[in-house]
Amino acid sequence: MKPLAIFGGTFDPVHLGHLSVAWEAAELLDADVCLMPASVPPHRPPPMASAAQRVAMLRAALQGQSRLTLDTRELERSGPSYTIDTLIELRAEQGDRPLLLLIGADAFAGLPSWHRWRELFEVAHVGVLSRPGVEAELSDELQHVISGRRVEDVSVLHHTMAGKLIELAVTPLEISATRIRELLAEGRDPRYLLPAGLFDDPGLLAPYRS
Ligand code: ATP
Repeated sequence: MKPLAIFGGTFDPVHLGHLSVAWEAAELLDADVCLMPASVPPHRPPPMASAAQRVAMLRAALQGQSRLTLDTRELERSGPSYTIDTLIELRAEQGDRPLLLLIGADAFAGLPSWHRWRELFEVAHVGVLSRPGVEAELSDELQHVISGRRVEDVSVLHHTMAGKLIELAVTPLEISATRIRELLAEGRDPRYLLPAGLFDDPGLLAPYRS
């Protein structure tokens, strides 16, 4: 069965680094990918743009294609968005369908700080996306939990519901939302780092301009 892959993040703002790795992961895994913006990320400072503004940017970014979709459930929930809760909810909705959590290499190294992180492997596979500039040193604890879970053959992910780990070598694009926010605050125009749709409506990037 075609896996459903979830790519979570703050998307503050969504940029071409996110979209290109999500797209490539969809192709490499032969999976549907949904982008899932987080409301109150437990691990980091709050986003600069509001939930509604981030959704508007994501909608503009995803226009014209249907392979990448948007799921706003975490924004509709009150309190922090814990990935484990989202995956448990999706498991109940999707039955036996394989679920896969897509995480950038930087975020993956920080997995042991996530709420009930060990349980993630009970409900989903994990796909780690290479990210330039990230020399991810994995803690002993994380190494222990992932030992024996690594697979290279994508078809395994289509035949099992959860519990495997795959590394996805995607085209490196050294783009970060932090850098884009800095450029916008300086009055610069980071046109080819962001999806073109974000420039169609001048209000979309207003939260970052000083
Ligand atoms: P910030 O600079 O604000 O920390 P970010 O660019 O890292 O933001 P997030 O929304 O925090 O974006 O990222 C969501 C997910 O996307 C994370 O798993 C992150 O590792 C991954 N990601 C973001 N940018 C890239 C990129 N250029 N290449 C690969 N993965 C990326």
